[in-house]
Amino acid sequence: MTRQLHDNAAPAPQPCSAAGQTVDAFDDIRVLRYDVPGFDQLPLPQKQLIYYLSEAALCGRDILYDQNCRYNLVVRRTLEAVYRAGTADPQTAEWLGFEKYLKKIWFANGIHHHYAGDKFVPEFSEAWFDARLAALPDEALPLDFGSRAQVTAIVRRVLFDPAFCAVRECRTAGEDLLTGSAMNYYDGVTQAEAEAFYRRMTDADDPEPVSVGLNSRLVKRADGTLEERVWRIGGLYSPALERIVEWLERAAAVASPTQREVIDTLIYFYRTGDLKSYDRFSIRWVRDTESAVDFVNGFTETYGDPLGYKASWEALVDFRDEEATRRTETVSAQAQWFEDHSPVQEKYKKKKVCGVSAKVINAAMLGGDNYPATPIGINLPNADWIRKTYGSKSVTIQNITRAYAENAKGNGFLEEFILRAEDRERIARYGTLADNLHTDLHECLGHGSGQLAPGVRGDELKQYGSVLEEARADLFGLYYAADPKLIELGLVPDADVARAEYASYISNGLFTQLARIAPGKQIEQAHMRNRQLIGRWACDLGAAGRVIEQVVEEEKTYFVVNDFDALRAIFGRMLREVQRIKSEGDFVAGRDLVERYGIRVDSALHAEVLERYARLGIRPYAGFVNPTYTPVTDASGAIVDIRCTTQAGYAEQMLAYSDRYSFLPTDNNR
Ligand code: ZN
Repeated sequence: MTRQLHDNAAPAPQPCSAAGQTVDAFDDIRVLRYDVPGFDQLPLPQKQLIYYLSEAALCGRDILYDQNCRYNLVVRRTLEAVYRAGTADPQTAEWLGFEKYLKKIWFANGIHHHYAGDKFVPEFSEAWFDARLAALPDEALPLDFGSRAQVTAIVRRVLFDPAFCAVRECRTAGEDLLTGSAMNYYDGVTQAEAEAFYRRMTDADDPEPVSVGLNSRLVKRADGTLEERVWRIGGLYSPALERIVEWLERAAAVASPTQREVIDTLIYFYRTGDLKSYDRFSIRWVRDTESAVDFVNGFTETYGDPLGYKASWEALVDFRDEEATRRTETVSAQAQWFEDHSPVQEKYKKKKVCGVSAKVINAAMLGGDNYPATPIGINLPNADWIRKTYGSKSVTIQNITRAYAENAKGNGFLEEFILRAEDRERIARYGTLADNLHTDLHECLGHGSGQLAPGVRGDELKQYGSVLEEARADLFGLYYAADPKLIELGLVPDADVARAEYASYISNGLFTQLARIAPGKQIEQAHMRNRQLIGRWACDLGAAGRVIEQVVEEEKTYFVVNDFDALRAIFGRMLREVQRIKSEGDFVAGRDLVERYGIRVDSALHAEVLERYARLGIRPYAGFVNPTYTPVTDASGAIVDIRCTTQAGYAEQMLAYSDRYSFLPTDNNR
C-alpha cells in the first residue's frame, strides 16, 4: 500500500557516473547499477553501521524465496548446480534458454514473475535438462530436500508441468484464494479456515491492535487443527534470523543510543516473534528521525498474501541525502497549508496534520523483497494506529531514481511516445525533478492527508482499497504539482515542471505502462490500476478529447494534454471524490470507479504498445545489482575504513549471494 513503484521515467540531463549502467538484460528485464554518492565522505562509525546493516540485509535472502513458494529453494539450488557445472560449455540455444530461465528466477526470488505472479515457462527441453542433471554428482545437489530421485522429480514437475504451482497469488474472485496460490504463507489451509482463524484472533475494540498473522505460516496439523508456525529464532526460518541478529548486534554496538534502542527492539522481536514488540519497534523506528543512517529489516509488506495478513521479508539500508532532504522538508513543513487548501470537502480534511517526516535518501543496500526490483519511495510503518498516533516515515530513494533516469537517456522512448516537441523538451529538462517532486508529494502529503467520517473504520473498500488509496495519493501529488505555491517555495523554477509531469503521467497511465502487461492479461497491480483509472477518468471528465486527446499520426497512437489548467481542475475534482469515497467508506462508488476505469486493457492499444516497445528494444522492468562493501583493517585487525565498489556482474552477484547467504534448509515445510 505504501510503496511507490517506478514507471519508465523519461530521460533527463544529469551528471553521469556508474549510475544507470545496464549490467545485464534478458526477457522483459534490465539489470542496472546504482552508485552510492556520499558514502566515501561519511565518518567511519556510519560506514561501519551501513556495512553491518548491509550484511543483515543480505542474510534473509532465502526467507523470501521460501515465502514465495515452498519449491523455490530446491529449484534454485538445483539449477545453480547445473549452471556452475556448465558455464564453460558451448553456448547452445538450450543453454542460453536455461541461463535466461535461471536469471529470471534470481530476479523474481522464485519461479513466478516478480510483478505478474505467473510461473515462468522454460525455453529448453526436458531431455536437455535431464541429461544435465544426470551428469551432476550427488554432492552438487540439495539432497537435504530428499533423495536424488525425489529432488529430480520435484524440480522436473515444477519446471515442466504448467498446471503445477501455476500462479503465486490467486486473485480470482469466487476461487479459494489460498488453495489456488503457490505462495507458502499457508499450508493445507482453505481461505474460509484462515479467515475464521484470524477473525477469532482480531479484537475489533482494541485501539492498538497487533498485526495478527504478520510473521507466521498458518499450517493445518495432521489432526485437522490449525497452528501458526512463527518466523523467529527457535522457530521457522531460525537459521537465517540468527545470522541477521548477529549482524544487527554488531550494528547496535556502533549506533547512537537512540538507534541502538531501535535495533535492540527489533532483535527482541526476532528472538520472540512477539507482535507487541514489533509494534514497539515500529514506534521507536518512526520516532527516530535524527539518525543519518537508517534501515528497513523485517516482515513488512503484505502484498504477497491474497488475504493481506502475512508479510514478505525485506531490507533496505540507506542514509540521508542532506541537500535533497531540504526539498522534502520544505514540503513537509507546509503540510498543513496543503491540507487546508486542497479541493477536498472541509469535513474530510485533517484539522491537524501530524508527524509526516520526510527525507530523501540514497540506498546503500537492497535485500529481500527490495532486491533486485526495488521501490523508489517507501512510507512506513503500515499499522494504522501507529501511523495515526506517531506518524510515518516517508522516503524518496534518490540514487535509484537517478539510475533509472540515466538509463533511460537516449533509448528513444520520448521520440517514440511523446508527440509534441514542446512536451519532449519539458520532459527532458524537468522529468527527473517532476518525478521526484511527485513522489515527495505522494508520500509525504498524499497518503497522510484527509480524515474518515465518524464511524468509518477504513477497511470498507476491501479489495478496492489499495487502488483507491494510491489514486488518492497520486491525485494529491498531481493537483499540487501545478500549484504556484511550489514556485513560491523555490521548489520548482516555473510551471513547465508540472506540464512535464502531466504530459508524461497521462501518456504513461493511458498507454505506455501497458508494456508491462503480458498479452491477453488485465491490469492486476494496484499502482498500475490507479494510473489507468486516473487517466481514463480524466479523459471522460475532460469533454470528449478537448483536455486529453488521443491522436493517431502515421498509424501511431499518442495521448496529448491540450489544456493543462483544465486538467489540473479535473484532478482536483477527482481528488475530492476519491477522498469522499474513502472518508465515507463508499464501497459501491469505489468499486464502480476501479472496475470501470482501472482494470480492463484496451487490446488494440496494448498490442500496439508492445510492438513499439519491442521495436525500440526497451525492456519494461528494471532492477539492480548491489554495491559491495569491504572492510579495510589495520595490522591489529581493527576496521579503519569500509570500501564501496560497484563492479559486480548480475550472475556473479547472485551466485556469490547463494554461496554466502544460503542459511535455510532446502525444505522448510516439514
Ligand atoms: Zn503510495
